[in-house]
Amino acid sequence: MRACAVAGRSADAVTLLAVSKTWPVADIAACAAAGQHHFGESYVQEALEKVTALPELNWHFIGPLQSNKTRPIAESMAWVHSLDRFKIAQRLSEQRPAHLPALNVCLQVNVSGEASKSGCTPEQTLELAAAVAALPRLRLRGLMTIPQPTTDPVAQRQPFVQLRTLLERINHDLGLSLDTLSMGMSDDLEAAIAEGATLVRVGTAIFGRRPTSAAGL
Ligand SMILES: *Cc1c(COP(=O)(O)O)cnc(C)c1O
Repeated sequence: MRACAVAGRSADAVTLLAVSKTWPVADIAACAAAGQHHFGESYVQEALEKVTALPELNWHFIGPLQSNKTRPIAESMAWVHSLDRFKIAQRLSEQRPAHLPALNVCLQVNVSGEASKSGCTPEQTLELAAAVAALPRLRLRGLMTIPQPTTDPVAQRQPFVQLRTLLERINHDLGLSLDTLSMGMSDDLEAAIAEGATLVRVGTAIFGRRPTSAAGL
């Protein structure tokens, strides 16, 4: 909320996604009881266990997704932020049950160009967006990125500017009205909100540091 005030943006313009990976169901239930509605998970098996335990919450899948794991994700999630290939999108659309609303999706873009990171390249994004937008059981909402970490607040803003510019270009060139910029985590959410984030994915700053057995996750 303070970051919104600093950026001159209204607090309800930014959705807080509580990233609950590695934390037990009891902690998530307590957070939900305090008024939090949206929760993010990165690992398929763990995500499915938590959705089963707390089906009334809004669940977002934010981790890497392989094609042999798409069905349970299509059957249980409200959102997928980490879409970066058409093949996965096609499967999710085919497997989304008819009784559920279309699955909200964001394309993950590797704006920093790190070889180790998942995400499509900025150059691929327009074409992928056009293809995904045409799938009947997906609702393309916007773009997501996980930039290379840096503590320099000025440098932090640069990948977020790139993602926002890319979203504007997609909307302009394809005549879409995508409304979601999923960017900003515990250590760079102020920079992301200053550059137009509509959803920040925050784990550590809500739940505390993840257990060391999960280091690197
Ligand atoms: C773990 C994770 C987060 C949360 O990171 P924190 O630094 O703990 O806030 C956000 N987004 C993704 C994709 C993650 O995997």
